[in-house]
Amino acid sequence: MSKLLPYVCPKWAQNLNHIPKYRIQLANPDTPIHRWSLPGTPSKFEVSIKRDDMTGSTLSGNKVRKLEFLMADAVSRKCGHVITCGGVQSNHCRATAVAARQLQLQPHLLLRTDVQDQSKIGSEGNLLLDRLCGSNMYIVPRKSPYETELKPRMETLAKKLREETGKEAYLVPVGGSNSVGLFGYITVFEELISQGLFDQFDDIVFACGSGGTAAGLAISNHLTGSRIRCHAIIVCDDKAYFTDHINQTLCSVGLDTVHCQDILDIIEGHKGRGYGLSTSEELEFIMNVSQQSGIMLDPVYSGKAARGLMEELRSNPDRFQGNRILFLHTGGVFGMYDGSLDSVVKAETKDLVHMWPSIDSSPE
Ligand SMILES: *Cc1c(COP(=O)(O)O)cnc(C)c1O
Repeated sequence: MSKLLPYVCPKWAQNLNHIPKYRIQLANPDTPIHRWSLPGTPSKFEVSIKRDDMTGSTLSGNKVRKLEFLMADAVSRKCGHVITCGGVQSNHCRATAVAARQLQLQPHLLLRTDVQDQSKIGSEGNLLLDRLCGSNMYIVPRKSPYETELKPRMETLAKKLREETGKEAYLVPVGGSNSVGLFGYITVFEELISQGLFDQFDDIVFACGSGGTAAGLAISNHLTGSRIRCHAIIVCDDKAYFTDHINQTLCSVGLDTVHCQDILDIIEGHKGRGYGLSTSEELEFIMNVSQQSGIMLDPVYSGKAARGLMEELRSNPDRFQGNRILFLHTGGVFGMYDGSLDSVVKAETKDLVHMWPSIDSSPE
């Protein structure tokens, strides 16, 4: 399972700085692309979906793509621990914990929440997998910024683990979105090309939470000279934050003359009540999409992004390069089990539950 593979980067990316030496295969590659009837889409558009919710089961979604490079880096440096951080229902923390255990590393997760007492931390959604993996969990205030609050804690913890266990810890930044994780979505872009991207699509649309998926796709799209447009629908922070983050990534890989605004359309206005918070309209949309198409979206990322896509296609059609749209499903399936969908789902389906106690009677 822990086999370090030499990484061969695509020709068009060979001039980037800091190309990783190794990769570990963790994702199921070549996730399918198929047509998708996204409810509310105007008839002039054709929407398809790239199923990166199918990169795995417990190790699914977009984070596993980045972890192929991050975990290879950790293993090649002979680390014994992996430390990362995220929201209490973080898909990234869960994927990191699962990957760490597959590679015989110990996972340590800094989880942001306003809960005051550790006995109130539940075991729903991603937390069930974090706990099953025996992750060490450290509860930190929900609003802790990464640079000033989380990163210093991760460094303190790394020092403590080194002193106590004699083993090094590998630090993965929020969402795995640094210049190592970047190569995850460079790899996906290569995969998309082999699946016919250039002949079949005009626009790619996806959720953006820490910017790594956006950076990988937009940089690849730029380097290949493709005429496709990339659109990142943000679910937290704001456009200025992601512009800055992606410009920093561009600098770190040596593309300092390229600017975020020239390679990526960042779409604001669809985060609703804020990160990890849902409105009843958003939850009803998720339910409607499940019923109309059999595609399940998570409330934190893909649900908001798909709803944002539908609204932009209606109100802002000129924002798109053409009418053949590829939506990237970034996963998040365990976010559906965090309880936030329960009341809407129960209310909407109460007439669908029938008692049928006896074989001699019809269902009620
Ligand atoms: C983390 C995440 C995203 C956002 O991807 P970034 O690379 O962090 O911007 C989107 N969807 C899901 C399900 C995620 O877990």
